Amino acid sequence: MATLTVPEGNLITPEIIETRSKSSVSDLQSQTGHSVSPDHNLTPQTMCPAFGSLRVLTRIDGVQTAMVTDTGCLYGLTFVTHFYASRKSIAAPAFGTKELVAGNVAEAAIASCVEASKMPGTKLIAAISLCVAETAGLTEEMLPSQINGIDVILVRVPAYAIHSHPEAKDVAINAILKKYAPPKMEVTSDGVEKPLTYDGSNEEEEALRRRVIMLGEVFPADPISVDAVLKRLGSGLAATLPSRNLDDYKLARRVGAIAAVHPFYGGSVATLRAAGVPIISGAPVGPEATYNWIKAVAAALKLDGELAEQVAAEERDKCKAIISQFPLRGKVMVCGYEGNELLYARLLVEAGAEVPYISTSIQKSLYTAADEAWLKARGTREIVYQKTLEQDVRALDTYKPDLVLGTTPLSAEAKARGIPGMYYTNMLSVRPLFLSAGLAGTIQLIRDALERTPRYAWMREFFEGPRQTEAPAVPINTMD
Ligand code: SF4
Repeated sequence: MATLTVPEGNLITPEIIETRSKSSVSDLQSQTGHSVSPDHNLTPQTMCPAFGSLRVLTRIDGVQTAMVTDTGCLYGLTFVTHFYASRKSIAAPAFGTKELVAGNVAEAAIASCVEASKMPGTKLIAAISLCVAETAGLTEEMLPSQINGIDVILVRVPAYAIHSHPEAKDVAINAILKKYAPPKMEVTSDGVEKPLTYDGSNEEEEALRRRVIMLGEVFPADPISVDAVLKRLGSGLAATLPSRNLDDYKLARRVGAIAAVHPFYGGSVATLRAAGVPIISGAPVGPEATYNWIKAVAAALKLDGELAEQVAAEERDKCKAIISQFPLRGKVMVCGYEGNELLYARLLVEAGAEVPYISTSIQKSLYTAADEAWLKARGTREIVYQKTLEQDVRALDTYKPDLVLGTTPLSAEAKARGIPGMYYTNMLSVRPLFLSAGLAGTIQLIRDALERTPRYAWMREFFEGPRQTEAPAVPINTMD
């Protein structure tokens, strides 16, 4: 019988995993001739990114999701979605090898959309196409645009193409905006169809044109403080996306500007820009960015320039006064999965902290460029996009921080080394950040954590003796 030869690189054995985890990149290249990273050791780095889309969509009143995937994805994703308080059923087809081999992907998608349409209160059906359906091929044209009189949108979130859950949120929002944000015809009360464009003759449109929609999932206190400042300029917030209200998405092309406060909404921004809506990037975080952001809003909406200067300077000075009273001292690593890490790092740097290393799950883009340049000009030495846990752990050795704002396993690793560590998602992303109000709370939290540095070092020595010079083995990551 002929021997079956598996080409090198196509078979991952426990020995290969062991060798890779112990080797450097150059070792691996010389052993295999391939350019492989020792970080690719098959440990999961995050939960399935598609969760970001599900989180956004299942929270919108009237949106019913139909998940086109196999049973494994369905089980895991419905579990995490319900864990994060989705209160809806998720329709899904029985989709196994038989259906896949038969090529019945579109039929399966339609069947689950029909089920979704029967659920009470459904106003929009979101067909979520995951890895299996995307690999098998789901043609958009095969999906009807309406089922039982209800609009259907296709949300494509294969994890092999969408690498992080923040970016999957953008995919979901963009799919809704594509349905509702492009210029459309409206039917007037006397039955005449006319383009829905602003001509200055409609008071409601006029008021909307002076308002802003904020694009970014933020702590609920932030829109309130942003709205208060915008009202002083004669503007205001019309909505914040992602929103629970489907009508807020329909407003997006009618407001005066979109403030994209997080850098990972590139798809949604492109759709809105194509619909003719001005985009303001950056966020009101720390004195300098707050001042610039308020002025940028006023410029985009063509508001009173003198008034904008006064409001922006006042808010900047409030931020500066807080910092001079409560300055930060110490070296902090910022390593989250949320996509807003550069904003937090800016705030910490302006407050006096040293932030040598930042890592995030999102990719580098046009929208991260300004913050990256600002941070690197102020001492940040390394910014890692689409990071791995292993890179973050190596950074602990390189930068020797006083505080780590990190993912669950990284914070645990920091604490094991006697360094205070805080879970970025649960401790920071659940607090206000914007304007002087957000700055005050965040600085206080970080100051308290930095003050705990000697206590952590003492505890470690007490339990385990002097610190090892060699870093311990990297723990296996859990979902984050
Ligand atoms: S196969 Fe893809 S969609 Fe399914 S759970 Fe894994 S990463 Fe997510």
